Amino acid sequence: MDATKISLVRTTFKAVAAVDDGPERLARSFYAILFSHYPATREFFPAAMDVQRDRLLKAIGYVVENLEDAERILPFLAQLGRDHRKYGITDEHYIAVGNALITALEDFAGNELWTDEVDLAWREAIALIASVMMEAANAESGPPTRVGRVVEHKQILRDVAVVRLQLDRPMQYGAGQYVSVSVPGRPRMWRYLSPSIPSNGEGQIEFHVRRVAGGWVSPAMVGQTRLGDEWLISSPLGALGVDRSRNRDQLMIASGTGIAPLRAQVMEMAMRGNNPRVHLFVGGVYPCDLYDLETLWQLARTNPWLTVIPVSEEDTNPWWHLDPTPVAPPGMHERLTGKLGAVVAAFGAWEDRDIQIVGSPSMVQATKYRLQAKGTPVENIRHDPLL
Ligand SMILES: Cc1cc2nc3c(=O)[nH]c(=O)nc-3n(C[C@H](O)[C@H](O)[C@H](O)COP(=O)(O)OP(=O)(O)OC[C@H]3O[C@@H](n4cnc5c(N)ncnc54)[C@H](O)[C@@H]3O)c2cc1C
Repeated sequence: MDATKISLVRTTFKAVAAVDDGPERLARSFYAILFSHYPATREFFPAAMDVQRDRLLKAIGYVVENLEDAERILPFLAQLGRDHRKYGITDEHYIAVGNALITALEDFAGNELWTDEVDLAWREAIALIASVMMEAANAESGPPTRVGRVVEHKQILRDVAVVRLQLDRPMQYGAGQYVSVSVPGRPRMWRYLSPSIPSNGEGQIEFHVRRVAGGWVSPAMVGQTRLGDEWLISSPLGALGVDRSRNRDQLMIASGTGIAPLRAQVMEMAMRGNNPRVHLFVGGVYPCDLYDLETLWQLARTNPWLTVIPVSEEDTNPWWHLDPTPVAPPGMHERLTGKLGAVVAAFGAWEDRDIQIVGSPSMVQATKYRLQAKGTPVENIRHDPLL
């Protein structure tokens, strides 16, 4: 797409976002149009549509924001296309979705904003998005999802569980990628989880799941998972990982279960002889939130390229947590106290590093902001789309 068309698409989308409850209204209108014109598409979505609406807008926002960055956006769309096979959608559904989006945008924008040029620009953008997704989906053979049978479920904190599954067939994914997961009892409510171990030929996979208060799915994953349950797992997504072609040292920053994709990367690196230097900051509110520290220390003890720096906002555990806080073994970094982003930035700008940040959207934004304020070049910082 040329720069003028990209700018027209971006301006219309920004106009929607600028209106109070604009994105919410646009998403409601889009799904209303889609389901009334193409009723067959309703069955792909869960009964409760709030998360779906939110996710749609964030995904469109991400694509619109990065339209001229082909290196970033094309692989993202291709992965999304492969992932969408889990819904059982076909080429005609992409056309239905594109048409519904155009109608919803046009209704929302009104005659003044929705000129012929804008219409053309959006149609070109949607055709591009749909064609990349369809091509990637159609290039895949084999079933769209794998079945993972739960072989272990360990509640390691009040609100965090480690779940291990045996897949019906091995899945190739890069350490650092994430997958879409659906659990029994919450059909069609797909949620992203990041495997916490590298891909392996035995088809074993592990997730760290935090229960989000008031969430639809994570409380069931943490509290109601039983051995033998079958989870559906879709194709891998995301581009986090160590880019060895850049030959740069690494800074990894994780809070909470955000440690999962970084831990997978460090474990994968530990299987190689030659690695860049890695500083891994792992954070939580309380010391007890650093539930994976013993494993990380073990990795650091046997891999001299790895330094693990634990950080917690509070110095002591809450009164309900009775287990003692583990003490740093000799040679390991002592725990630091403070907000994760502030603690990392206090060390400097880390200009010589490739940086990955993983955690909640607010933690990622805050940490990125802290680093940028310190002088870190933004192009060195990577994180997953904040969906
Ligand atoms: C790329 C990616 C990778 C992810 N990997 C993991 C992982 O490895 N482990 C894991 O536990 N989770 C992970 N998540 C988050 C996960 O996909 C779900 O969003 C989360 O479990 C909440 O789902 P839910 O159905 O319980 O809540 P929902 O019903 O989706 O949301 C309920 C409410 O909680 C809010 N909310 C959603 N997520 C959070 C959050 N993290 N913190 C605070 N409020 C929130 C929502 O905005 C909403 O208001 C990942 C998310 C992304 C985008």
